[in-house]
Amino acid sequence: MSARAIIDSLEFAQAERELRGSLPVSGLARLQDFLRDSTGSVEFVVKGGRDPENRPQLALSVSGMLHMQCQRCLEQLDYPLSFRTTLRLVRAGEDLSETVANPDAADAVEASTELDVAELVEDEIVLGLPFSPRHAEGTCDSRKKDTRSAAEGGAFSGLAALKNVLDRKL
Ligand SMILES: [Zn+2]
Repeated sequence: MSARAIIDSLEFAQAERELRGSLPVSGLARLQDFLRDSTGSVEFVVKGGRDPENRPQLALSVSGMLHMQCQRCLEQLDYPLSFRTTLRLVRAGEDLSETVANPDAADAVEASTELDVAELVEDEIVLGLPFSPRHAEGTCDSRKKDTRSAAEGGAFSGLAALKNVLDRKL
């Protein structure tokens, strides 16, 4: 894997820096359990700035295509990734009650002098993935194979991946 981008998140926001990059899907370890294969890459742009109340934030946009597995037919399901999110930078120990109480408030991420941008991008992707992706009703490939055991493995590894994510967030 190529060198990872590490930023000082508060300095990055204050200086209104911008970083663009591309991450190979195969390098996003925590995504693997959700995927049918790990070809392709994910593009991201992270921009530092301030919210209307002059608090430091990072604006992240991510795009790409993931190859997930349809939980009905077990065939490949192309899942286009395209989202933007804003993350308010908070200092360790800062009161987050406003963020928690207000569903419209930006998500918060703890400020760090060594923020791993690839990890941040990966976190945000994992949080947004459908837990049980399926092709639209009636569009599954009719050539079903006997892949019941693979289906069970997929469901359990999906659960394990979700649990990992939750554990990290707590
Ligand atoms: Zn399907």
